This record gives sequence, structure tokens and C-alpha cells, in this order.
Amino acid sequence: MAKKSVNHCSFCGRSEKEVPLMLNGIAGFICSDCVETAHQIVSENLKHRKSDSDFDASIPLKRPTEIKAKLDEYVIGQDEAKIALSVAVYNHYKRLQQQALMKNSKDDEVEIEKSNIIMIGSTGTGKTLLARTIAKLLDVPFTIVDATVLTEAGYVGEDVESILSRLLQAADYDQPKAERGIVFIDEIDKIARKGDNPSITRDVSGEGVQQGLLKLLEGSIVNVPPKGGRKHPDQDYVHMDTRNILFICGGAFDGIERKIAQRMNTHTVGYNNVSARHNIDSKNLLKYIQPQDLKSFGLIPELIGRLPALTYLQPLDREALRNILTEPKNSLIRQQKKLFSMDGVNLEFTPEALEVMVDKAMERNLGARGLRGIVESVMTDLQFSTPGTDCKEITITADYVREQLAKSEVL
Ligand code: ADP
Repeated sequence: MAKKSVNHCSFCGRSEKEVPLMLNGIAGFICSDCVETAHQIVSENLKHRKSDSDFDASIPLKRPTEIKAKLDEYVIGQDEAKIALSVAVYNHYKRLQQQALMKNSKDDEVEIEKSNIIMIGSTGTGKTLLARTIAKLLDVPFTIVDATVLTEAGYVGEDVESILSRLLQAADYDQPKAERGIVFIDEIDKIARKGDNPSITRDVSGEGVQQGLLKLLEGSIVNVPPKGGRKHPDQDYVHMDTRNILFICGGAFDGIERKIAQRMNTHTVGYNNVSARHNIDSKNLLKYIQPQDLKSFGLIPELIGRLPALTYLQPLDREALRNILTEPKNSLIRQQKKLFSMDGVNLEFTPEALEVMVDKAMERNLGARGLRGIVESVMTDLQFSTPGTDCKEITITADYVREQLAKSEVL
């Protein structure tokens, strides 16, 4: 008697005895496990393609004035930076739309270049806040990385690719979404080239990192270890396309005013420029910042070239600090009021109390960053003792602020 032949899956090779179910086709077989795997691959692929082609419909293009108006709700002052950012972001999304259109019709030869942004301004003036607010507004994944932890591949520290791992994490591993996200690279000034002669020793945390960043910034396919960490030969990589990721860099660039002043003096020779020199606002030289000042500071020209939108943030004056306390949608004072109202307490601050806090912030010279610490020092005692009492109304006075601040400083 002839033996009944056993069918094998044409994909994984297992016999019908080894699989839950075997389906047969005209010229072969497929097991139920392989059907499921195939289904997953197909739907992943379609998702990827769909989000690429759906781009123009899925992103509502906000006009620069609308973007700025939104930024105004959260960030005080810094109009120049807001305008530069709004325009850069608008162009960035126009560029994405254009790419989507170009896919369909091949005849549009004007390709808009990527407009990554660099913001110069001292600590606590709102650089991170601006970048974060933009990301929230556009509803795209956002991550902040500190350039100081990055080193050249193979050295102690993080590879530049780790930036993309973080963005991928921020997007919940939705790769197409991550590929349209925003990365804020803070402290970019700390990877400036040290000295003018890079060949004496290897500058692993300076120029090497700048070189590493180039390929991310300009847009290319990068192998990214999805869970972060060091690149490893046995690891599976995700191939991320950085063409549509917007990079915003920020840094204090301490001392760059000197470079600006030097440049302006050397350039303001001659009759025509003498009068121009009289109009120079010497207290705020940052507003004259040019790409070549970044080069004098130690950024390599290739990197500067990939950060075409250059803007600056003003140091915050008294009035700005005072406004930051109360004006933004989620201002520190509003947050405190909210915290107390959740305990059924109406919290008020006298105008003088706010002034004392601003005085202290000016004294500490940490920009708005100092305000948070000050508000915390003033409020901690009450936050500790009020819950559970029948107190319904609290007014913070200037004397109370002074008292609490004096206490925190002794400690
Ligand atoms: P930077 O990145 O410039 O060092 P941040 O954006 O991190 O500063 O600012 C620190 C904190 O100070 C933020 O959380 C924010 O609450 C506040 N802050 C700074 N600048 C402003 C501003 N212009 N308007 C409103 N809040 C600000």
C-alpha cells in the first residue's frame, strides 16, 4: 500500500503535524503561523507607506503668525527667536508637503532645503521651552539631548545615533512618526572645537561629535539601535531616515559677544560704516550674530551650514521675569494656585510679594530658571502644612517671601 505523503509548509518547511493548520494552494502549502507572520509584515509595511503618502492631508499647515501666537501663550518676549522659529518650522512643513507632492508628479525641480535651527542665548532664557512648545503645537514626537554626553563612536559616552533611539522611544517606536519629530540638542556650544589645532590630540567630545552629527542633520538613513546604548555587531538596527526630522540646537555660547565685537570692529572701517557703528546696540551684541561668529567659537563650517536658521534669545530683564511669573498659560504662579485649589484653598500673591521674588531671581542671575527654585522655597512650608486644615484663603505677602527666602538661604 502506498504511504500517504505529508504536506510541508512552503515557507517554513514544517510538516502539517507540526503546525496548527495547513492551507494548500495551487502549487504549495502555507501554515497558519506563516500566515500570521506574513500578515504582520504586510500591515507594518502598509502603515509605513500610508503615513508617507498621507502626509499632506495629515499635517495641518499652521501659518507662521499662528505658530507665533501659540508660542506667545507660553513664552514671554523673545520675539526675534519666535519669528525665526515660526518661519523655519513653517518652511520645514512646506518642504514635507512638497516632497509628498513631488512623489506624485516628478516635474517639480525646486527642492526646498531642510531648515534646522540654532538658537543662541544664555541659560534660562527659554530655548528649551520654545522647542518644547513647538513640538507640542505640531503634535510630533520630541526629545531633548544634551550634546555634552555625546562622544565619537567607540569612546566612553553616547554615540550620536542614541539621539535617534530617544526620538524613537518618544514616538512609542512608531518609526514613521519618529521620522517627522523634533530633536532639541542642548549645549551645542560645549562640543565646540577646543583650540585651533585639532590634530594634536583626538578631540573625541568636540570636533568628532560635530562630524558625527552632520549625517543626522543633513538627512540620511542611519542605523539606530532601537533600545539605545552602544552599537553592537549582533544587534538589530532600525534604519531611520532623518530627512524630515527637524533639529533645533541651543547653546549659551558664553563669550561669543567678544567674537561678534571683534568681527564688527574689523568690518566697520571706512567712512560709511563709522555712522553705522554709532547705532550699534553694544549691550545686546547677540542680535548681530552671524554664522561666522559660530565658526570663530569653534563650530565646524559643515555643521553651521546644516543649521541655516540662526537666531538668538535676549537676556531676560526684570519686567520679563515679572511677566514669566504670572503671564504664561502654565506660569509658576498659576501652577501654585492650581495646586492649592485642589485642596480647596484660594491662593493669592500681593504685587509686592512677586516683586521680591523677581529681585531674588535678578540677584541669582539664572534667568527664569531661578524663578522656579524661588517659588518652591517660598511655598514648600505652606504646601506641607495646609492640607488637612480648614484654611480656605492664603495671601502671600512680601514679608512672608523674604522670611521664607532667608530661611532657605541659611539652610
Ligand atoms: P534654556 O533652555 O534657555 O536654558 P529653559 O527654556 O529651560 O531655558 O527655561 C527654564 C525655565 O524657565 C522654563 O521651564 C520656563 O518655565 C522658564 N522660562 C525661561 N524663559 C522663559 C520665557 N521667555 N517665557 C516663559 N518662561 C520662561
